[in-house]
Amino acid sequence: MLFNDLKLMDSLLRAVRAEGYTEPTPIQVQAIPHVLAGKDLVGCAQTGTGKTAAFALPILQRLSQTAGRQRGAIRVLVLSPTRELASQIGESFSTYGRHTGLKNIVVFGGVGQQPQVDALRRGPDILVATPGRLLDLMQQGYVRLNTIEIFVLDEADRMLDMGFIHDVRRVITALPTQRQTL
Ligand code: AMP
Repeated sequence: MLFNDLKLMDSLLRAVRAEGYTEPTPIQVQAIPHVLAGKDLVGCAQTGTGKTAAFALPILQRLSQTAGRQRGAIRVLVLSPTRELASQIGESFSTYGRHTGLKNIVVFGGVGQQPQVDALRRGPDILVATPGRLLDLMQQGYVRLNTIEIFVLDEADRMLDMGFIHDVRRVITALPTQRQTL
């Protein structure tokens, strides 16, 4: 199986080639067609098996090929349990999406919020966040999630182990019920 067989658009294939990936990993082979088809998905794979690209690539493609609910509004929310993981996910979206023009930002706690507020004002397509800081920003009116089309819970098992269930539930109540969930 080659990346070309997964019906990914040229701009994504170019980015993947530039990373030196020759073929998709098993979770990418299985997940990418489902996500491209707009289906919900639960994926289980160990760290280091290419899980991030398995959701980031088809998400970037869907955003590129459709108009959002509202101009300049956030279209994708990725929740991550830790700031390190959130940063890595943001970097992956930047790397794979470098020829798409789609923008992502990352917000997490433990650092000043003003740069994050400024970044939110610039209207990113994709928001990667840890739950606590996201709720803080929502409560202050800096983030609205009513335009989200795709919601990703990365490392959902770890997030629940870390006691984020109530935060995650609160985030979910702010999302449109019509959405794709991964
Ligand atoms: P992840 O499991 O998402 O943390 O990815 C682990 C590592 O695998 C990252 O450094 C990726 O750059 C790399 N990777 C992802 N997909 C592929 C692929 N198809 N071929 C080679 N490396 C990959």
